[in-house]
Amino acid sequence: MAVSSDLRTSEARDADRDGPLLELEGVSKYFGQGSGLFGGLQYDPDTFPPISVDRERVEAVDDVSLEIQPGETLGLVGESGCGKSTLGRTILRLLEPTDGEILFRGENLADLSGEELRQMRSELQMIFQDPQSSLDPRMKVGQIIEEPMRAHGMLDDEGREARAKELLEKVGLDPRHYNRYPHAFSGGQRQRINLARALSVDPEFVVCDEPVSALDVSIQAQVLNTMERLQEEFGLTYLFIAHDLSVIRHISDRVAVMYLGHIVEVAEKEELFENPQHPYTKALLESIPVPDPRESGARGVLEGEVPSPTEPPSGCRFRTRCPELIAPEAYDLTEAEWSHTRAFMRAVKRRTFEPMSAAELRREFFGGDLPGGEAGEIVADAIDMIATDSDHGGESADDRSDWTAATDLLLESFAERSICARERPAYDLEPVHGSGAHFAACHRRR
Ligand code: SF4
Repeated sequence: MAVSSDLRTSEARDADRDGPLLELEGVSKYFGQGSGLFGGLQYDPDTFPPISVDRERVEAVDDVSLEIQPGETLGLVGESGCGKSTLGRTILRLLEPTDGEILFRGENLADLSGEELRQMRSELQMIFQDPQSSLDPRMKVGQIIEEPMRAHGMLDDEGREARAKELLEKVGLDPRHYNRYPHAFSGGQRQRINLARALSVDPEFVVCDEPVSALDVSIQAQVLNTMERLQEEFGLTYLFIAHDLSVIRHISDRVAVMYLGHIVEVAEKEELFENPQHPYTKALLESIPVPDPRESGARGVLEGEVPSPTEPPSGCRFRTRCPELIAPEAYDLTEAEWSHTRAFMRAVKRRTFEPMSAAELRREFFGGDLPGGEAGEIVADAIDMIATDSDHGGESADDRSDWTAATDLLLESFAERSICARERPAYDLEPVHGSGAHFAACHRRR
């Protein structure tokens, strides 16, 4: 059934395409912590004035540059809290960018306001994660789908009803359900209603924010297939946000990996999955659950927590969790010596082992031989701080201050002196699969 009410088809869109549909240049979104009327207010009667404002800056998205080509699906993946949804909302100007340019067909969205912005909004739509809460339970499905059209002054009542019914059919629902309420539908069906609502204003670009993560796996594939079919038919461009790499693999043409507000890797899908170059991407891929029952669950699960975006690490933001942190040039360490030192530093920082003697620590982490030179002396000092038989750490091996001192010594001497802490990485690589650009923010790819 053809959509009668002037939805543009893929061919029609092809005619006016030239260059990227969307370009992000240095886009940042920072929040003041405790924003809101009284957010961040501090009361201290011993100071004058006794009330002050403490606004720590949360760097949710920092200096992101990306291009999205017409008709493609760019998957955006990363752990929860890494800034994916904030980026999606900032692109649509549901959140105001703190910095940078968002160019849609070459026009900077940040320059638009009032009627111009309202008009442009019909081109840019969003589908949210939770199909339950994003549909007003008091409205009938037909009204829900027609609402954006009404807001944009599209068509008359009859035309809107015709389009709503056609879209219901397009998304795989029965047009006779036009007068039903959302509660009568399953989760997957409700997400299809969301899809129809987003498409009602004939958008060109849709931000899909975890649209299938609340659905059963069997339903996920059906909804994803519908989204692919609609994309082809109407020439849609998707930014598809998900934390689940198998979903990203299903639907994306290219994939961008996000960590703590930064894009750390971008490549075509096959290149990213078959030839990942960033340690974070590799860790995410290794965390995918294994279907083989002889292997146990997820492998190589990422160590540690994502650091706070109020105090992101300098240089490479992944460095506090990176298993491949680069040795500081200040020391002349072999690969093996650095590997041992790095493992020791991480274990002390996380206190992942029981207190033991200096000899046991040397054996456990260094095979008995400490690195040579200054690096070895630093490691020996750190061991002395926590070993159960040393003068310093002896009786107070459990004393948190000794572990903290050892951690500080190791981090300041090694981690903070690594290029990973000093320079933000950004490298364009030669792809192994396909011919698309491959970007990786890792100094190992220098
Ligand atoms: S730059 Fe350094 S810390 Fe960052 S991912 Fe690469 S090796 Fe790891």
